[in-house]
Amino acid sequence: MITIARRTLPALAPVAPEVVSPRTAAHLREVVRFLALHQPTLRMTNGARSRTAAHVARTAQALAPLIRLLPFPADDVTRGEYALQVNEIARLHGTAWDGDEDQDGNSPAIPSVPGFPGPRTSPEPYPAGPAPIPGARPSQAMPAPCEPCYGQGGETVISNAGRGRIRKTFVRCEVCKGKGAV
Ligand SMILES: [Zn+2]
Repeated sequence: MITIARRTLPALAPVAPEVVSPRTAAHLREVVRFLALHQPTLRMTNGARSRTAAHVARTAQALAPLIRLLPFPADDVTRGEYALQVNEIARLHGTAWDGDEDQDGNSPAIPSVPGFPGPRTSPEPYPAGPAPIPGARPSQAMPAPCEPCYGQGGETVISNAGRGRIRKTFVRCEVCKGKGAV
């Protein structure tokens, strides 16, 4: 008989929320502002995520904590939509971008920033219902490659040309007449 000793497992320590410095929080806000004001209707990319973070942070030391907070953009999400997503993260850390202040230093009561988040130019990224089944790929409509010649239209035959030299001769496939496809 096998006896397994019972022991008391230590209680898991609660996961501490990520501590974000005021500077990083301000950088989050700047990322939102930059993306909302610069081509918010274009598609957001991983490259734009990295470039915007680097542009805002300016130093590698400041970039590291900032890039950790920026999610990878979902497929087919616009820069403006991504900015809204980041703005929610910024809000968790005590800041957010709600449009630029006017000359007197007053934030607009109702932010009215043209193009923020920007109208979609393509359908919603997550349409309801099952994912559409992709149609036939164009390659499937192409003629099948010739089997005897593996689609090469023939084969290169090496023969002895004498005096230590070789001769390469391309022999045309008789099945496909050199076309490589049937
Ligand atoms: Zn052939």
